[in-house]
Formats: sequence, structure tokens, C-alpha cells
Amino acid sequence: MPTYDVVVIGLGGMGSAAARHLAGRGQRVLGLERFGPAHDRGASHGGSRIIRKAYLEGSAYVPLLMRAYELWGQAEDESGRSLLTTTGGLWLGPEDGAAVTGSRESATRYGLAHETLDAGQIRRRFPTFVPDGSVSAVYEPDAGVLRPEEAVRAHLELAERSGAELRFHTPVRSWRPSGSGVEVSTEADSYTAGALVLTAGAWTSDMLVDLSIPLAVERQVQVWFEPDGGVGPYLPDRHPVFVWEDGNGAVCYGLPAVDPAAGVKAGLHHGGELCTPETLDREVHPDDVRVVRDRVRPLLPTLPGRFLRAATCSYTNTPDEHFVIATHPAHKQVAIACGFSGHGFKFTPVVGEILADLAIDGSSRYPIEMFDPARLTRPGS
Ligand SMILES: Cc1cc2nc3c(=O)[nH]c(=O)nc-3n(C[C@H](O)[C@H](O)[C@H](O)COP(=O)(O)OP(=O)(O)OC[C@H]3O[C@@H](n4cnc5c(N)ncnc54)[C@H](O)[C@@H]3O)c2cc1C
Repeated sequence: MPTYDVVVIGLGGMGSAAARHLAGRGQRVLGLERFGPAHDRGASHGGSRIIRKAYLEGSAYVPLLMRAYELWGQAEDESGRSLLTTTGGLWLGPEDGAAVTGSRESATRYGLAHETLDAGQIRRRFPTFVPDGSVSAVYEPDAGVLRPEEAVRAHLELAERSGAELRFHTPVRSWRPSGSGVEVSTEADSYTAGALVLTAGAWTSDMLVDLSIPLAVERQVQVWFEPDGGVGPYLPDRHPVFVWEDGNGAVCYGLPAVDPAAGVKAGLHHGGELCTPETLDREVHPDDVRVVRDRVRPLLPTLPGRFLRAATCSYTNTPDEHFVIATHPAHKQVAIACGFSGHGFKFTPVVGEILADLAIDGSSRYPIEMFDPARLTRPGS
């Protein structure tokens, strides 16, 4: 039975980065992935992802984001691929809403560059946006767009360059602890390793039979439009990424035309049907496009001009929408990262680094207490 230091189950966003960091530290790594490299059946596809630092979900994320930015730069340099485009970002909503207050709190606490804009200032500075007087915003110049498929490919390449063995179209059937290590079985083979990294995204619950983390898989749809009047005003040097919380607390987002021929992407954050990776309806229906168009139009009247295409994706949500990153409570040789709740991609390289820490040392140099799954599995929680 072939033996490795670490087996990584799932080579999507998080697993590809974990394989890269583990192999970079001299570990003998085997990565096993159910589908092909940078596939479109999980959560890490669709051409673009928002990255931002003035984190409206909580200032505790900011140190991790600062490290993530550094690591994205390193991955670009080492892979020669373009992964991050800085465009600036607008976090819009009611003055007392979570988007504005949360991002301002993070920016203030960590001294991040930002400005607060009222509706008139937003309209003058970013003419694609036509907010009414109830909307204000935090503008963050360092926000931008990541290319998820390129990022996964870069991490896979860098992992292989450091000696990782990566097998695609190889679903893992099961794993079990074996002495102080693990045994991992696919249909054809079994492998032993000193440690396991589980980064199976929406499939995590299938791989965690003796630990029940409350994860809910949610269908999401990303929609590309050709704006009325063309993509010109939506190019990255003119139009920032945005997250908009409306007066009812519903959130939508959009990105500039980083790939002009593909149009402008927008979507809703949450509100999709709950499902499993197997039952997820991968067909796009007219209603999927209509709801995005209706939500975006009051803020950006020209954006949802002509429908170009749409693609489904999945969120894996925890009840509090914070991540799970920890060693397995019963098996310290198993590191788990899941429940990214629709906001994990920007953290991918720093999560890879944390998973390498956990698999090699059993603990991480980063503050990850808030990602302990015990908060979700305690009786009464
Ligand atoms: C529409 C949409 C928009 C988003 N926008 C943003 C954004 O703007 N910014 C941001 O930061 N985040 C965003 N996110 C969230 C982010 O993309 C995810 O948090 C992140 O991609 C999750 O990565 P992952 O590695 O956990 O999952 P995945 O990338 O899905 O990887 C899991 C992998 O495990 C493999 N696998 C599962 N089971 C097995 C098995 N048994 N054997 C072998 N392999 C297996 C799967 O095939 C898959 O490749 C968005 C997500 C979606 C869907």
C-alpha cells in the first residue's frame, strides 16, 4: 500500500492550495479529486471572485486577508499566471446596515484605506451606480477580482512542481484512522498516510461519517449580462466590484467586465434552494435570471441589459456563516476545512497555509479559534 505524509481529499479552491503549501514544505503529498482540474461542478468556477479586506463579516478575518493578499502575490509570481486585478470595491447599503457598518469597523480597526461616500458622491464618482438617497457606501481601493480557475490551476501546478502526486477523476470512497495515521480508499486503491486534509466542499458531510457538522448546501446562480450601451463603463478601471445590501437586508453583488467579451457578472448572495451536490439543479431557468435582473436594476439601471449566460454554483453554509477550519476532534491527524458559506475563495491561499500547519504540526500560527466546529455541535447551539 503506497504511503504518503499527507493525503488531500478534494482539489478545488482549498485543496489545491493545501496541496501547494504542504508540498512546498517538503511533505510527500497525494491529492485525490473526483472531477478534473478546475472543474465547474463545485464552488470554485465562474471566471471571477471578489476579494476585499475591509471585511463586513467581521474584523477578525482581516489579519487572514492581509496574509491572503501576500500569498496571492506570491502565487502570481511563482506561477506566472495573472490571478488578481485590483479594481476598488463599493460596499453599499443603509448607513446603519451590516455592509456599511461592518466594513467601516474592519477598515477603522486595521487602518485600511477607505472612504465613506453618500449617494450623491457615489453617483458622481461611479456613474454606473444610481443609488437613491437612502444608500451610502464604504469605498475600498484595494478590493478586486480573482480568477478562480486560474488560481486553482496555479496552486495545482505549484504543488506538482514541489513533488505532489495529483490524481483526477478519482473519487475517494472512504477513509479511516489507522494507528496514528489514516487509510484512504478509492474504488481501485488504498493509501496510507500520516495525516489527512479534508477539503471536499459541498461533499464534506459524505466524508465525515463520525462527525456531524451542520452544513447546508445552497444552489446559487451567477449571471452574465451585456449592459445597455455596452461594457465600456463597466471596465475594471471605471467600475468597482460591489456588494449591495438593500433596505430589507437582502444582498447582491457584481463585478466589472474583467473579461470584456464575457460581459458583466452579477448574482444574489444567498436565497437559493437547499440541495445536495447530487440534487442541485444545474439547469438555468428564466426565473434565475429575472431575480438577479430585478435586484440589480434599481442600483445599476444599465447593467442587466441583455442576458448572455448563467451558471450554477454551490454554497456550503454553516448556521453562523463562519468557516470551519480545525483538526477533527477525535482524530488529530485529520484537518478539515469546509462551510465557507459563499465567501471563502479570497482566503484560499491562507487556508492552504493553515491546513499545512494543522497537518504537519497539529496547530496553526494563525488565530483560527472562531472556526472551531465545536461552536456548531455543542448541545443547545
Ligand atoms: C456563485 C458563487 C460566488 C462566489 N463568490 C465569491 C466571492 O466573490 N468571493 C469569495 O471569496 N468567495 C466567493 N464564493 C465562495 C467560494 O467560491 C467558496 O467558498 C470556495 O470556492 C470553496 O472552496 P472549496 O475548496 O471548499 O470547495 P470546492 O472548490 O468545491 O472544492 C471541493 C472539491 O472536493 C472534491 N471532492 C468532493 N468529494 C470528493 C471525494 N469523495 N473524492 C475526491 N474529491 C472530492 C470536489 O470535486 C471539489 O473539487 C462564491 C461561491 C459561489 C458558488
